[in-house]
Amino acid sequence: METILSIHNLNKRYGSLQALKNVSLEIKKGNVYGILGPNGSGKSTTLGIVLNVVNKTSGEYSWFGGKLQTHEALKKVGAIIERPNFYPYMTAEENLKLVCKIKNIDYSKITEKLELVGLNDRKNSKFSTFSLGMKQRLAIASALLNDPEILILDEPTNGLDPQGIHQIRDIIKQIAAKGTTILLASHLLDEVEKVCSHVLVLRKGQILYSGLVDGISANEGHFELKADDTESL
Ligand code: ADP
Ligand code: MG
Repeated sequence: METILSIHNLNKRYGSLQALKNVSLEIKKGNVYGILGPNGSGKSTTLGIVLNVVNKTSGEYSWFGGKLQTHEALKKVGAIIERPNFYPYMTAEENLKLVCKIKNIDYSKITEKLELVGLNDRKNSKFSTFSLGMKQRLAIASALLNDPEILILDEPTNGLDPQGIHQIRDIIKQIAAKGTTILLASHLLDEVEKVCSHVLVLRKGQILYSGLVDGISANEGHFELKADDTESL
């Protein structure tokens, strides 16, 4: 199967702190990958490096088999790594039109993406009136406007109520079912188990486990995942 992203022995130091130690991951088309680990384990750093917003210390990564320059490759990547940020006094639709304009995308995509995230009936509402869950869903619609090969999400359910969490997870599953590859960073074991097929478990920047999600439970003893530890994961 086609390789979307290949990460090999990535290392990152912030001053004296070693945030990533020899992290490797192979992302194949059509799968749903989780990066699972507690706060500070290096999830966002990993995403930042492959998205070219954080400098690596050493190691390699390549997009789409290295056929494209990073700049070109990233045009085929949809990513939400920050809190959703749109113009508060513009409507959902107006905000997406602006994104289309900036990225040279046809407006015709907007309705389809708003429908996918369940916001088409709120397209004329101002962004400022949206709940955090709706803001997050609009960000997902926005990231999908150019039909990316892969969607990257950094803790998209953080701060949401149970209903909002359920909606986001459901949308991620729907996107995956349409064939889009997903990379999801999360500190929640149950989220990764519910949404992902594959997982990279990080602890203090090091790989604890990498493989099928189904392999996690079989390896729990090996990880020494104690009850309170699993909570913070
Ligand atoms: P996660 O996303 O899993 O919570 P991060 O990748 O954000 O983890 O952080 C990994 C480690 O690197 C943490 O110890 C964090 O404090 C540190 N870190 C992250 N960004 C910076 C930065 N810009 N400068 C210094 N240390 C950082
Ligand atoms: Mg993070």
